[in-house]
This record gives sequence, C-alpha cells and structure tokens, in this order.
Amino acid sequence: MVREIEHFIDGKRVKGTSGRLLDITNPATGEVIAQTPLASVEEVHAAISCSAKALCKWSATPPAKRAEIFFNFRDLLKNNLEELAPLLSLEHGKTLPDAMGEIGRGIEVVEFACGIPHLLKGEYSEQVASNVDSYTLRQPVGICAGITPFNFPAMVPMWMYPVAIACGNTFILKPSEKDPTVAVRIAELFSEAGLPDGVLNVINGDREAVETLLEDPDISAVSFVGSTAIGAQIYTKGCASGKRVQALCGAKNHMIVMPDADLDQTVDALIGSGYGSAGERCMAISVVVPIGEKTADDLIERLAPRVRELKIAPYTDPAAEMGPVITGESLDRIKRYIDEGVDAGAELVVDGRDLKLQGYEQGHFLGGCLFDRVTSDMDIYKDEIFGPVLSVLRTNDYEEAVRLVNEHEYGNGAAIFTRDGDAARDFTTRVNIGMVGVNVPIPVPVAYHSFGGWKRSLFGDHHLHGMEGIRFFTRLKTMTTRWPSGIRSGAEFNFKRGADD
Ligand code: NAD
Repeated sequence: MVREIEHFIDGKRVKGTSGRLLDITNPATGEVIAQTPLASVEEVHAAISCSAKALCKWSATPPAKRAEIFFNFRDLLKNNLEELAPLLSLEHGKTLPDAMGEIGRGIEVVEFACGIPHLLKGEYSEQVASNVDSYTLRQPVGICAGITPFNFPAMVPMWMYPVAIACGNTFILKPSEKDPTVAVRIAELFSEAGLPDGVLNVINGDREAVETLLEDPDISAVSFVGSTAIGAQIYTKGCASGKRVQALCGAKNHMIVMPDADLDQTVDALIGSGYGSAGERCMAISVVVPIGEKTADDLIERLAPRVRELKIAPYTDPAAEMGPVITGESLDRIKRYIDEGVDAGAELVVDGRDLKLQGYEQGHFLGGCLFDRVTSDMDIYKDEIFGPVLSVLRTNDYEEAVRLVNEHEYGNGAAIFTRDGDAARDFTTRVNIGMVGVNVPIPVPVAYHSFGGWKRSLFGDHHLHGMEGIRFFTRLKTMTTRWPSGIRSGAEFNFKRGADD
C-alpha cells in the first residue's frame, strides 16, 4: 500500500476527501512512494474557515507571547533535523547535507520571527502640533496564503509563514504537490510548539486549490514562489480580486568572471552553484560570462574535468554531491534543451545525457552538462532550464557582460568574480538584479535581510522575509491624537501644515 499524505487543518492531520490523488515518485528510483491528495473546493473552504476562526484571538495575542511559541518551534526544528532531512530528500532527491542546509535556512527565518515584539514597534512623534501627537502601528492583514514550489519544500514555505504568523495573521500553505511531506511534518511541529489550532493550515492540491484561494474574499494576501508563467497569472488574478500579492519567479543567474579572478576559487564556486541540488535552485548560476578569450579558455580547462568528476548518487549515499532531478518529465524537458543547444551550434563540452547509475536505472539522473560558445539568441541562454546545465557565453569586454545581464528578462541573482574593487563596485551599482554577489556565487540574503529579484523574477512590491516581509504581512495605521487639557481653538476650516496650530 502506498502512503497517502494528509492535509494539516485545525491542528491535526486530515485525510483528503476529494478522491483525486497524485502519485509521488522517489526521484532516485522512479518508484511510486506516496500519493498527494488534491484538495477540492470544499476542503480549501474548510481550511479557510479554520483560519478565519483562529484569526481574532491570534491577532490579539501579545507579540511577546507569540514569540514564546516561536522559540519553542525553533528548538523543535533543531532537535528534529535528523528526521526532517530524509523526509525531504526522499521526495525531492537532494543530498542530505543540502536538505539540512535548506531546513537550517528556514530555521533562521523562525529565529528572525522570534524578535517580533521589536520588529512590530511603530513610530511616535510627540507634539506634531500643540497638544497633538502622532504614532504608527503595523497590524496584521488577516488570512494569508502561500503557494510554494518543489525545489525548497521546507525553506520556501518558511520564508513566508513564520513572518506572517509572527505578525498576527493566520496562514494557509499550499505546498508543491510533488514533495509536500516535510511541510506537513513541520506544521505539526509548530503545533507541538504551542501554536493554536487553525493558525497554520496546510492544504495539498493543484490548480483547483490555488484558484479557490485566489478567489476567496476572506484571503487578504498571497505569497507565491514558483515559475514565471504561473506567477504572472497568480499575480494578475490575485490583484484583480483585491488581494495583496507577491510572486517570486524564475531566474537565469549570470556569473561574470573578470580576467583577474582567482580561477580556482571561481571553479569551486561554479561547481557548487551550477550543479548543487542538480541545478534546481532559483539562485543557481546557469550562465558564466568570462571576459576575454584567455579567461574563457583557462576557465573551461579547469571546469570541464570537475564537471565530469561530479559524484552523482541518491541521497542515501553519503558521498553524493548531486542527486536526480525531480520527475521524469523534468528530465525529458532538460534533455530537450540540451539537444536544442547542440542543434543551435553551442559546443557541448561535457555531455551528461547518457548517465545511468547501476541499480537506479529508472531514477531521474542526469550527469552535469557544460556548454561553451553559447550565444544570447539561443533558447538555452534565454530560458530557465532548471537542471545541471551550465552555459558559457564568451565576451570580449566587461561592458558587453553588464549589458547581457541587464537585457535578460530575469533579474533574480548575479555575481562577479574579481579582485578589482572598482569593477565590483561598478557591477553592484549598475546591474538590474535583485540579489548581487561579489565573489559569492549564490548571494541568498540572510533571514534578517530580504529575498527577491527584479524584472520577471518578481511581480509585486515586496521581497520576502526581513523587514520587507514584515511590511508585506502588515498594514500600516497612523493615529493623530489630541488631548486638549482645556485649550479650545474653535472650528477650523482651512487645511494646515502639520506644525501649524
Ligand atoms: P511551478 O510554478 O510549477 O509550481 C509552483 C506552485 O504553483 C506549486 O505549488 C504548484 O502546485 C502551483 N501551480 C502549478 N501550476 C499551477 C496553475 N496552473 N495554477 C495555479 N497554481 C499552479 O514551479 P515549480 O516547478 O514547483 O518550481 C520551480 C520554479 O520555481 C522555477 O521557475 C524556480 O526558478 C522558481 N523558484 C523561484 C524562487 C524565487 O525566489 N524567485 C525560489 C524557488 C523557486
């Protein structure tokens, strides 16, 4: 019997009742290991009404009391890391250290949320006019929903709901249907930490669940992370139904390699950022732009053998550096891109298409691939491939490299590798990119800063977590108060400057 994953509603696991189930395969073996229930409209409505019921009391709970629950939650996550990481890797395929790192990044957001009494402090101005004071508060927006992708099944949901819930909102998470088990288990731990029932609900599902959330007038805010095609639709639909929406989407992250860069350090960085998690990261480096032919030749000479030597294996092998991709469909899509790149004239220096692992022949494994002499008109350059495929696009000068980065439709991350402070400063100033690294290949901001891209990598105004997260999940209220103590100024008909009495 295949295990059936449950929803998590009103503080408990609940079996799906829609009759619609989706098979989940172990990416390493291709075997069906579980089924995700795909929620019906009625099941989503049940989760919304639990969230609505919990909202009044939770939003009135003092922030310091909320923080106590977050401290407990953090301890439970740390104590259960060894249990959570294999749950994640089994469905996703990433290596165990990578799964632990991902959950660790989620824990950092919980730690950030522990500071909520401080983060919600407003501003106060005394005597904005005689006997008049003014102050601002940040209040919760209400019921929030999060729709998240398969590639970080623990961390991306935790970019959202710890901040939303700490701010006094209730939250409905719709995780990826491809690997939801870890998200359900983490919600259960939050409940164990003392979170009241209904404050966090997890509803599994597909488009039907998402559309129900987007159309429901009781949902005030929607955070989405996923592909650009879906994110653009969610942003438009959510805004049209009056919601606050942030949609963080696809990427094509460039690394510029200057002639003075330390090439050994650069190659180490490229191996981790291009092939870690099989390239299924929105901050993966997928394009390298060496400046000058010599830089390019030297880089490829060092990089190619490292790509060939990658240790590709299931997560159960402690030596694994890179696992399989998520599904057979993803594997076919990535292979199609590689075929197209070859047809378009790019030079496939390392070809991982025929990799077969003994005992794992049905797994979704692909060897690392490296293209040289890619040009900006090729689909392998323009599109997000989301697999272990790195493209080298040679340019002769730095200006051309900056133009490439700025003209690409995506603007999530970019990095420059150099020893030249002038070049680095110019790059960080001029690139139209949300997250920029200098000799740091994956510049993912820590929890108390905010994560988000530019251009078609983010629809909406706010980035995730850090102060941007607090702003997204709260509404600003400004009070102006007068306690006249006997002063009477008579009726006022004219609009005045703030400081005029
Ligand atoms: P996806 O867009 O297929 O799915 C994301 C979510 O949307 C899932 O919960 C899915 O169930 C839901 N969904 C899918 N189709 C839908 C539809 N037609 N209507 C409504 N909802 C729908 O993305 P994915 O394949 O799970 O994740 C990979 C993508 O996520 C990549 O493009 C990657 O760059 C992006 N991503 C971006 C960031 C970021 O912060 N910018 C972070 C992680 C992943």
